[in-house]
Amino acid sequence: MKLLIKGGLVVDPLGKIDPAADLLISEGKIEAVEKDIKYDGAQIIDATGKMVVPGLIDMHVHLREPGFEAKETIATGTRAAARGGFTSVACMPNTRPVADDQSVIKFICERAKETGVVNVFPIGAITKGSKGDELSEMADLKAYGAVAFSDDGFPVSRSDVMRRAMQYAKMVGLPIISHCEDKELASDGVMHEGYMSTVLGLKGIPAAAEEVMVARDIILAELTGCPLHLAHISTVGSVRLVREAKARGVAVTAEVTPHHFTLTDRAVAGYDTATKVNPPLRTDMDVAAVKEGLADGTIDVIATDHAPHTDEEKDVEYQYAPFGLVGLETAVGLVFTELIATGVLTPVEAIKKLTVNPARILGINKGTLAVGADADVTIIDPNIKEVVDVSQFETKGRNSPFIGRKLNGLPVMTIVNGNIVMHERKIIEK
Ligand SMILES: [Zn+2]
Ligand SMILES: [Zn+2]
Repeated sequence: MKLLIKGGLVVDPLGKIDPAADLLISEGKIEAVEKDIKYDGAQIIDATGKMVVPGLIDMHVHLREPGFEAKETIATGTRAAARGGFTSVACMPNTRPVADDQSVIKFICERAKETGVVNVFPIGAITKGSKGDELSEMADLKAYGAVAFSDDGFPVSRSDVMRRAMQYAKMVGLPIISHCEDKELASDGVMHEGYMSTVLGLKGIPAAAEEVMVARDIILAELTGCPLHLAHISTVGSVRLVREAKARGVAVTAEVTPHHFTLTDRAVAGYDTATKVNPPLRTDMDVAAVKEGLADGTIDVIATDHAPHTDEEKDVEYQYAPFGLVGLETAVGLVFTELIATGVLTPVEAIKKLTVNPARILGINKGTLAVGADADVTIIDPNIKEVVDVSQFETKGRNSPFIGRKLNGLPVMTIVNGNIVMHERKIIEK
């Protein structure tokens, strides 16, 4: 069965933007992108007034399987991705066991094939057990499908280990994704250190806990020549450091999350544990810097850091709750509402940060609507409005600080390898 998407605003950040073009999909591939395609017997999808974009890629999610299936599984996490408009996700290795050897990478790929509804690209651990001491078998991890290395959740605290990790990663030809946090400086802080943490009587994490590691990792990337991707940067200083490094020609890229460009530490005021994230929600100045970094290209990628937890884990006093929030199903709405509607980014710039840029960083053959490419396509209705309703979530996680928020601009269809997996905000059951 061929699919013919008619009359949409086709945005291919790799190629040209074509108002009111048609897209013909056949056998899992893009067969044609032209005006007025006629094809008898194709299933017609009317995309008038909507944006037809390459399938979105979230390069930073936690799918929790194996080991933490009460929080999320590959099945539920990929359903959440599909509902959020994502056709590909890259999952972090902090599972149990940690994805630090080929058997776990293999397991994730097999489970994704059996139970997943979107493409899953595993990220291998930098160090064994993500403990920060002994390097994983990077070449093996790559051979079994890893697309990058990260100890996300933890920093690689020892600079000598990080240096060697970068040397090996460069040899293997994959990027290092760094969770920048100086654990000693962060100490047992639970929110951003500043005026609000004083008012609320909660222990703070200083911006410096992130920035000193951003600076270190940039210096090590410069030393080793390894491509470095900085996960979830969130402060004025981090954005400045990345901007300066890029100007010097260092191979560094960076991502921000929707929650870090939408919320400030004032959101912690109700002690809602869904606002407890790592790095923490920052100040107005930090949010402004992140938006500037998005606008001037310092920040390449928007990624969710989707981190589901059970209600039991989050339903405790603020200081005892685990860090993390669920982001897959609210990301596109936040991008449209907070960045596009306000003029921070044009739609094309935003789509780039959700498609071609993450694809390029991970070296995966996705993020384009070129003829012959995999038919991963997302259709977004920029005019649709929806109030975030947790009962509609596909993720097992209920830890969203955006419940009740009105979002404007949402994905209405997700197509993976030529198959419609989400239509009108609902997963298509097989
Ligand atoms: Zn992290
Ligand atoms: Zn993470």
